[in-house]
Order: sequence, then C-alpha cells, then structure tokens
Amino acid sequence: MRQVVILGATGSIGCSTLSVLALHPEKFQVLALTAATQTSKLLAQCLAVKPRYAAMLCPNAAAELNTTLKEQGSTTIVLAGAEALCELAAHPDADIVMAAIVGAAGLLPTLAAVEQGKTVLLANKEALVMSGELFMDKVQRHGATLLPIDSEHNAIFQCLPTEFQRPQGRLRPTLQQMGIAKLLLTGSGGPFLNRSLATLDGVTVAEAVAHPNWSMGQKISVDSATMMNKGLEFIEARWLFNCTPADIEVVIHPQSIIHSMVQYTDGSVLAQLGQPDMRTPIAHALAFPERISSPVPPLDFSQLTNFSFTKPDPARYPNLYLAMAACAAGQGATTALNAANEVAVEAFLQHQLRFTDICQLNEKCLEHFLNYAARSLDDIVALDLEARAYAQQLVRTLN
Ligand code: NAD
Ligand code: MG
Repeated sequence: MRQVVILGATGSIGCSTLSVLALHPEKFQVLALTAATQTSKLLAQCLAVKPRYAAMLCPNAAAELNTTLKEQGSTTIVLAGAEALCELAAHPDADIVMAAIVGAAGLLPTLAAVEQGKTVLLANKEALVMSGELFMDKVQRHGATLLPIDSEHNAIFQCLPTEFQRPQGRLRPTLQQMGIAKLLLTGSGGPFLNRSLATLDGVTVAEAVAHPNWSMGQKISVDSATMMNKGLEFIEARWLFNCTPADIEVVIHPQSIIHSMVQYTDGSVLAQLGQPDMRTPIAHALAFPERISSPVPPLDFSQLTNFSFTKPDPARYPNLYLAMAACAAGQGATTALNAANEVAVEAFLQHQLRFTDICQLNEKCLEHFLNYAARSLDDIVALDLEARAYAQQLVRTLN
C-alpha cells in the first residue's frame, strides 16, 4: 500500500487525483490532503477518503475544518499554515507526493518532498520554472523520483527510452546520447486561436477561462489563452529533460489529442495520444513503471478527424516568446517572469488589467530583471518577492 500526500487537493488536479485513487483502494492510501482556503471542499474530501492529516494555509479555515470534522466523528488531524504543508510533504510515511498547488506557493512544499527523496508527481510547473537548476540538483542529491504530470511532459516522458526514465536529475543521458533530434511540445492554441487580433484587448475573463478542450483551474486557463502556459512548459521541459532551448519546438495542434512527441535522429517520431483528460497522466505517474486503469474513456479512432499542426504566431502569442527569451537568459529571468505573470493574471481575473496588458506587464518586468542572478533558494524567494512588488506597481500604472 503506497501512502499519498496531495498538495492542492481541492484544485482541478487534486480532484482528478482523488478520482483515480478511488479506483485503486488496494494500492494507495491517502495520508494527507492540503488546500489554501476552501473549507467545504476539503471537508467533503476528508469525510470521503479519511486521511490521517489535513492542512490548510489559512488558520481560520483550518480551525473551521477541524471543528466540523470533529463534530462528524472524524479522526483526521488538522494542521494550519505554510509550514504544515511542508511538514506533510516531507512526512516519513509519505511515499508519493502530488505537487498540485498553483503558482510559486508550491515551491517550498514541493522541495520539502524532494529533499526527503519522495516520489514527486509534479503538476506545479511554476516551481520548476522558478528554480530549475537547483530543483534538479536536489532531485539527484536526495534520490527523489520526479514524474511529470503536465500532459505534454508526461507524453514526452512516455516516448523516451527506459535508460532516460530511470535515472533522475542530471544523471540522465542527454537527448543527443539517446539519438533524439527534438522534443515537440504541442499546445492547442487556446480559446483565441482564430480570434481577430484587433479584438484581443476586449477579451473578458469568462472568455479567457473557457478553454476549448481542457477543464482546469483559472490561472492555468488564462495562461493557456495567452500561451504563457506553453512558455512555462518550454522552461519546464528544458529542466525535466536535461536539454537546451534549441532542442524544443512548440507546435500548435488544436485538437489536443496528441499530447506531445519525440523526434529521433533516424526520422522516427513517437507520440503519446489520449483524451484531453488529466486523469491519464495522473494514473500513469501514480503507477509508474506499472500501468493502472483510469476513469478516462478510450480514444475512438472512428470519431477522430482532421489533425492539424501549425507554428505559433508571435503576434498572437507574444507571452510564449517572452518565456523562451527568459529561458535563454537564465534562472533569475524565469523566476521574475513567473512572478510577474502570476501578478498580471490575478489582476486580469480581478478586472484590473485588460487581457493584452498581461503581456505588456510581463515584458516590462522581464526587461527589468533579465540579467538578475538567482542561484540559492534564498535568492530565488527574494527575487520572486521583488518581481511581484515591481509587477504590482506596473498594475497600478497600466490600470
Ligand atoms: P487550481 O486553482 O484548480 O487548484 C490549486 C490548488 O492549490 C487548490 O487546492 C488550492 O487550495 C491550492 N492553493 C492555491 N494557493 C495556495 C497557496 N498559496 N498555498 C497553498 N495551497 C494553495 O489549480 P490546478 O488547475 O489544479 O493547477 C495546479 C497546478 O497544476 C498548477 O501549477 C498548474 O499549472 C498545474 N497543471 C494543471 C493542469 C490542469 O489540468 N488543471 C494541467 C497541467 C498542469
Ligand atoms: Mg500542459
């Protein structure tokens, strides 16, 4: 029986993880669930799966959860605060940690799991975008197993040879050593693939979060609409797959059935296909290297038509190209860009910025912090805060 901790249990990935685990009670037990503030959702989850621990970032929410759980006769121990999340991620009885907090807030709990050599299922791409080199060094040093949940990275991982999949961190062979010419990172292009460019500044929040193929949390939905999501994934791939920016090509595939591909030097291209449903990569990573069932319906090839592929247009998706520039510049630039983007997306969701302002703000921030160095964890955390403050100022000037 493997013990699972879910960081960000109440989110889209957290709920999908619980739905896969529910099919396999003989293989997995939930040790702990965590959330920021959503008491009623976490309460229902605790009553359903009876974890040993639950933790909430917000102390008031945790107190409320604790009272209600005790009234219902639950024995779940409730903890509160950011440190409790790190404690649970590093709990000696935890085997698997699902890192599904959104944004920079996930960095420290995810690293806490890595430092205890856990099997870390990484959905929280922002953690790797901020700290790529340091993160991968820690994975190697502490003997952690890092498995990608992001559907594209999970797809690429599945298309790579076993000699790449087993070793961890920077012990992995390079793409060249494995006869690989390129990683092809696919993206749908989001809801505005065909919208007239002149109308993008009028995009509403409801339009931006309505992804044509995937159902996801708000932040990643907006990131998918600007394609910053693909930019963050570009940086994520560079670290996960021990490669350089030149090894990665972004391809628009609006149908979201091919989840990414690996092009080998002999001309072969291997792809992973499936429904656009995160429960497939979650099931893959939970059971790796075995396979378990998931609730996802099988692909029906009699219904699939018209696969298409194009290059992303820089005029439509400037955020993607900003992220690629940050990736080339280094860890300081990627940390700052990630922080700026979190502030910009939140301001857009709060109706303080227009959709097209997100890129304006990101660009100004990246320009400012392009050559900042951030080597240690303290540097990264400090730069994240500094870039957030700078971005908040920009929100006020753009508003
Ligand atoms: P979400 O907004 O639906 O859920 C986020 C979860 O994190 C919630 O449980 C919330 O309580 C918790 N949380 C938020 N802020 C927190 C904080 N400050 N401290 C502690 N916990 C906090 O997000 P999501 O869509 O599930 O995405 C989670 C992560 O997975 C993101 O990094 C996203 O990029 C990545 N991801 C998501 C999908 C998807 O389909 N949803 C796909 C690929 C990758
Ligand atoms: Mg993805």
